Amino acid sequence: MIRYALICSFGHEFEAWFSNSTDYDVQKEKAQISCIVCDDTKISKQIMAPALKGTRRKHGADKAQAQAFAAFAGKVREKIRSTHDYVGDKFADEALAMHHGEKDEKAIYGETTPEEAKALKEEGVPASPLPPAFAPTPPKKLN
Ligand SMILES: [Zn+2]
Repeated sequence: MIRYALICSFGHEFEAWFSNSTDYDVQKEKAQISCIVCDDTKISKQIMAPALKGTRRKHGADKAQAQAFAAFAGKVREKIRSTHDYVGDKFADEALAMHHGEKDEKAIYGETTPEEAKALKEEGVPASPLPPAFAPTPPKKLN
C-alpha cells in the first residue's frame, strides 16, 4: 500500500491509499479518484519537500547554510568597511559629538565598552551593536 497526499483543482487537500503507484495512475486516468470535499476528479499529487534523513545529509545542508551565511556576512563586513570610517575605541566620543551636533555626521564604526554602549543608548544615539559575524576587522593603521 502506498499513501499519497493529494490535492484537487480547488485546492482541497486529502490523503488516499493505493495498492501501488500504477493503481493511482489508473484510477486517476479513469477519474475514479474524487476530492473528499467537492468530488472534483482533477486530482494531483501534492509536491512535498523531501524530509532530511540521516546525519550526513543534514550535515551537508547545515554546511551549505553556513557557507551562504559566511558569504553574506563577508559582504556586509566589506560594505561597512568601505562606507564607514573606523574610529577605534573613540566610537562613543565620536558618536556623541555627532549626536550633539559638535561634529559633522558621518558613518563610523568602532568599539565601545558595554558602559559606553549603554550611555549611547540612553542619549538616544542611533548606534547599534554588530553581531560578531558582521563586525569588520579593523584596518591596521588608524588615521
Ligand atoms: Zn476539492
